[in-house]
Amino acid sequence: MHGMLFLGDKKVGLRDFPDPTPSASQVIVKMKATGLCGSDLRPYRSTLDGLGARASVIGGHEPCGEVVELGPDVRTLKIGDRVMVHHYSGCGHCEHCLSGWAQLCQNGMTLYGSQAHGGFADYQLVEAHMCVPMPESLTYEEGAACSCGTGTAYQALKRLGVSGRDTFAVFGQGPVGLNATLFGAATGANVIAIDPIAERRELALKLGASHAIDPMAVDPVEAINEITHGKGAEASLDASGVGAVRRTAVLSTRVWGRACFVGEGGGVNFEDATNDIIHRQVTLLGSWTFSTVVLEELGHYIIDRNIPLKSLLLHRYSLDNVEEAFMLFEAGNAGKSTIIWS
Ligand SMILES: [Zn+2]
Ligand SMILES: [Zn+2]
Repeated sequence: MHGMLFLGDKKVGLRDFPDPTPSASQVIVKMKATGLCGSDLRPYRSTLDGLGARASVIGGHEPCGEVVELGPDVRTLKIGDRVMVHHYSGCGHCEHCLSGWAQLCQNGMTLYGSQAHGGFADYQLVEAHMCVPMPESLTYEEGAACSCGTGTAYQALKRLGVSGRDTFAVFGQGPVGLNATLFGAATGANVIAIDPIAERRELALKLGASHAIDPMAVDPVEAINEITHGKGAEASLDASGVGAVRRTAVLSTRVWGRACFVGEGGGVNFEDATNDIIHRQVTLLGSWTFSTVVLEELGHYIIDRNIPLKSLLLHRYSLDNVEEAFMLFEAGNAGKSTIIWS
């Protein structure tokens, strides 16, 4: 089979790998769709040395496909099942693993697409417990998005408790931020989208944002205060992973506001934590992806509520064109990019 490796310095390449064989608790998933996630840009931009052991591991952590082979002990799946892959495996018996949060396993967690082969390949070898069933009417492309970016946004909104009473500011309109905009609008919240790229702001408005702010042209905190009668947003989310933007996301909330950090990497500096956070009674949250339980719930949510997820799934490539997919994603194209197998 073919699989994609990160080669360092914004290069990726396909290599031949032996077709995988499942051990007792594993299954083979024939890939149908694997999404490109913002966090894939870190290995993409890394040097080859910086990649370390990851340089020999197939990338891709938003896999979705069909179960085509079962290990002898697998009882929970059958051949032909359509599944989203939760891209983590843990010890299987700690409190976090048992609640579907294998990424929080304290006994050693394996991250697929980084430490074990991921979804930019014709087949993926995974533990059966990583496979989450999906509704018949959810497309593989939608399922792939749910497997990281869309699921991450959904869970962050759950943590933040975003409702129709809120003005909700979303910083960064890459795939996760756009999904947060989409889900925020679906709850009836007044969504303010912030991004320096015009194409992404336009898409955010199409997905239901009431305002789109260019942070290079205006001060987002002032602009959000203007929209909210001088008070600030009830809730904000940072999907940019940029330190200064994280701080701005917190400052854009009103007194008793809630802010959530989702974008990864780097730090954040509050020079005046007393006035920025403490004296404004801010609730500050971190949110890292989602559990298998929430992933299954999300599949039904999208179908049952008619969430127009498809309207942000805009770029499709074959595995042979994965290099082009990464080049355009890195350049900041608007909407989700997905590798599709026909
Ligand atoms: Zn991701
Ligand atoms: Zn565990």
